[in-house]
This record gives sequence, structure tokens and C-alpha cells, in this order.
Amino acid sequence: MASSAFALVFPAACPLCGRECAQPGWAGLCDSCWAGIRRWEGPVCAGCGLPIAAGADDSAPESLCGVCRRGEYEFDFARSFAVYAETPRSAILLLKFRRRERLGLQLGELLAPLWSAHGEFVELENPVLVPVPLHRARQRERGFNQAEVLARGLVRGLKKAGKAAPQVDADCLARTRPTLPQAGLSFRARQENVRGVFKVTETGGVSGRDVVLIDDVMTTGATLSSCASALKKAGAQRVAALTLARATPQFPDTETPGLAEPVDDFG
Ligand SMILES: [Zn+2]
Ligand SMILES: [Zn+2]
Repeated sequence: MASSAFALVFPAACPLCGRECAQPGWAGLCDSCWAGIRRWEGPVCAGCGLPIAAGADDSAPESLCGVCRRGEYEFDFARSFAVYAETPRSAILLLKFRRRERLGLQLGELLAPLWSAHGEFVELENPVLVPVPLHRARQRERGFNQAEVLARGLVRGLKKAGKAAPQVDADCLARTRPTLPQAGLSFRARQENVRGVFKVTETGGVSGRDVVLIDDVMTTGATLSSCASALKKAGAQRVAALTLARATPQFPDTETPGLAEPVDDFG
């Protein structure tokens, strides 16, 4: 009661556009901003899910991007919910830098229909969800790992849909050293930056298991690929990856509209 009385006096403002939210007390996005986080429905690379411009020569259903054609990714399959356009980006920055965990859980729920739409995930056997870890020092500073919040949101979404929910193992992988911010680096530089940086911890039981990596943004895929490499060295069978957003040349990860804090480490 106290909180709804508070909300009447101080209606919640949408943290992205500042408009009053219809839901009293909700610290998330207004309906119109929420509607701006749309699932990418266009053609994608069959391997890594990179959106392919409509009308491009290689927009056939089974087409692969250059990186996948060269077999450079260590993961077997990746998909993202949305392109890293303005609203998804702002929502992710809110989650990361303003610690909007409830928003993060809601965003994570968006991954549930994506999971269900791909037989590749369903066919995985008893997969374990592994959020891409932050370095210990950064997680201490931030207080939480946004990828873990998204993974918990995915589990919640699957349970709501009456599906079997996989287990989340947030301690499976560790970053052995801090890395430079990935934003602005080339593909090769990103690969070098994160090469060998992840290791499977002693409690990370992935031997013989399938793994689905979870992260907020996939840019070049170098971070996810480095995680997959560590997982496979530790005996993981198939490694897939799900991210909320995918940066593309049209929607790169080099700008941070609407937030004053510096961006770090978009993987
Ligand atoms: Zn709004
Ligand atoms: Zn690809």
C-alpha cells in the first residue's frame, strides 16, 4: 500500500524517455520504449545469426557470413534477439550501469521465444546456461553481472512458457585477467584482447555437456568464441550462444547515447 501511495504522488518516469509509466512503481521502460526492443525478423547468417541486409546476394536461407565460412568461431551456433539499435542499446546500458536488475530479468525473458524457435537449442542435451563472466574486480565494482541477470530472465521466461528450464552456472567460467574495452577494436584486435582470457573453474562441470553461453551484446563474437574455446578444452560438447543484441556495421557499439558513464567491454 505504501508503495502505491508513493507512486500516486510520484508517478514513475520511464528511465529512457522520461514519460510517465502506466504501471505505478515500476522502474522499467514505458510501453513505447519497450516496443522499441523488437526481435530481428530479417535474414541472418545460419551460423552466428549476423543480420544480413535484405536483398544482399547471400541472403539465401543457408548462407554464412565470412567469419563462419572461414570457420573462425569456436562456438557452434549463435543467435541474438535484436539488432543493437538505439532502444536496445539504451536499455542494456541502463541494466549495466544503473543496475536495473528487474529490467534485466524482463530483457532476459525475451530470450525464451528465441530459444524455443531454434531446434538447435532444443536438441542440446541437458544444457547448462553459462553467463559470460566479468573480471572479479569489475564485478565487485558493478555489484552484479548483467549476463547472469539475463540468464536468470531466460530461465524465468522458459518456466512461464511451461518449458523445462536449464540450470544456470554463473561460476563455471572466470576471466583470468582484466581486458581492454572491446569497443572500437578491430576483429583481430578483439580476438587478441580476449585470447586465452577465460578458464573453466574447478566447480564448472562441463565435461561431456552441452553449453549455452549468455551475454548482453555480441559484436564480433571474439569474446563468445574465446569462452567457447575454454569450454571445449574442458570437455564441453556443443557450445551455443544467445545474446540480447547484435552489433552490426549499421548499429555499432562505439557510441553511448544517453548515459554519461564510459562504456566498457562490449564483447
Ligand atoms: Zn519510455
Ligand atoms: Zn556468421
